Amino acid sequence: MANVADTKLYDILGVPPGATDNELKKAYRKLAKEYHPDKNPNAGDKFKEISFAYEVLSNPEKRELYDRYGEQGLREGSGGSGGMDDIFSHIFGGGLFSFMGNQSRSRNGRRRGEDMMHPLKVSLEDLYNGKTTKLQLSKNVLCSSCNGQGGKSGAVQKCSACRGRGVRIMIRQLAPGMVQQMQSVCSDCNGEGEVINEKDRCKKCEGKKVIKEVKILEVHVDKGMKHGQRITFTGEADQAPGVEPGDIVLLLQEKENEVFQREGNDLHMTHKIGLVEALCGFQFTFKHLDGRQIVVKYPPGKVIEPGCVRVVRGEGMPQYRNPFEKGDLYIKFDVQFPENNWISPEKLSELEDLLPSRPEVPPVIGDTEEVDLQEFDNTRGSGGGQRREAYNDSSDEESAHHGPGVQCAHQ
Ligand SMILES: [Zn+2]
Ligand SMILES: [Zn+2]
Repeated sequence: MANVADTKLYDILGVPPGATDNELKKAYRKLAKEYHPDKNPNAGDKFKEISFAYEVLSNPEKRELYDRYGEQGLREGSGGSGGMDDIFSHIFGGGLFSFMGNQSRSRNGRRRGEDMMHPLKVSLEDLYNGKTTKLQLSKNVLCSSCNGQGGKSGAVQKCSACRGRGVRIMIRQLAPGMVQQMQSVCSDCNGEGEVINEKDRCKKCEGKKVIKEVKILEVHVDKGMKHGQRITFTGEADQAPGVEPGDIVLLLQEKENEVFQREGNDLHMTHKIGLVEALCGFQFTFKHLDGRQIVVKYPPGKVIEPGCVRVVRGEGMPQYRNPFEKGDLYIKFDVQFPENNWISPEKLSELEDLLPSRPEVPPVIGDTEEVDLQEFDNTRGSGGGQRREAYNDSSDEESAHHGPGVQCAHQ
């Protein structure tokens, strides 16, 4: 049915078959103006032809189709000459479109198989120290006994029902002068395009050409690798005949660590100290990700304010591919204050004598009112605070709109 040299639609627009989109557009505009029914009432058919030609050629998929197969196969039912407008647009818009989809699936020579993505959970210790691990997975490989042919050489035959296409095309006459082209997967070969006689079929793969194989990959997690980083094994994904295998891609998933939080190459940790340590210096020990015991000393006389952060240079994560360079370790101090009434009033006034003195209270002028300072549970909230929290926590869009902060953000 193919008539590759069919250039009629190009001829209608007066452009060569290799015309660019721009050239097509220009030619179409010029002709459409010239033959527009308003100006040229007798050229109605011509105008329809021009519109139709442009409609096909300006659509990349339709154009490719036309370049390959021409209109010949479709013209057959239409009785050739005349009225190629409505009928052809009907046909072009229908069956041929899906026909096209199948072409790109099976005829593009050696296409590439899909990549296989696997998450790989790793601890922060593994990312700090590096690790080699083995990953077992099952994948399709070409059958070695038939070399991925499915049977003895010569046993594979082109399916006669579909002539090797895998699909069958049916042209159905809808009405005189109007045909519809339909395609369906060939039932004789299940769309494979070829058949193997039962007796010639490869015993090992039962004609499937591939067999499942357990593959063990040795995975090197390098020092300093990060969450979300990929480790690629090129061409290790499923094999299939005539297909270039895709890659196996491992996606690193960093597990949470109890002590350290990572931020790039830096590490963060929180350490609790008492008031006496905050004021009088301290020493503490922690175990690093490589098992070293790290001693942190802070001399008497230097003060740690609650919530402050100090840094240890060079004790963060190793840099990827440059592991002797390391990030920094940030330690946030959570200062634990003593409980109420932890000391007798007499001792307290002794302590006050030791502490930096109070600021001078300026004399009060005019009326005063004394208020109570009460304990306040931050987690439970109270009054307005609680209401605001309820709004913020709500995932319900409607109530979120009532929250003052959210409303501002929307405008
Ligand atoms: Zn086989
Ligand atoms: Zn077939």
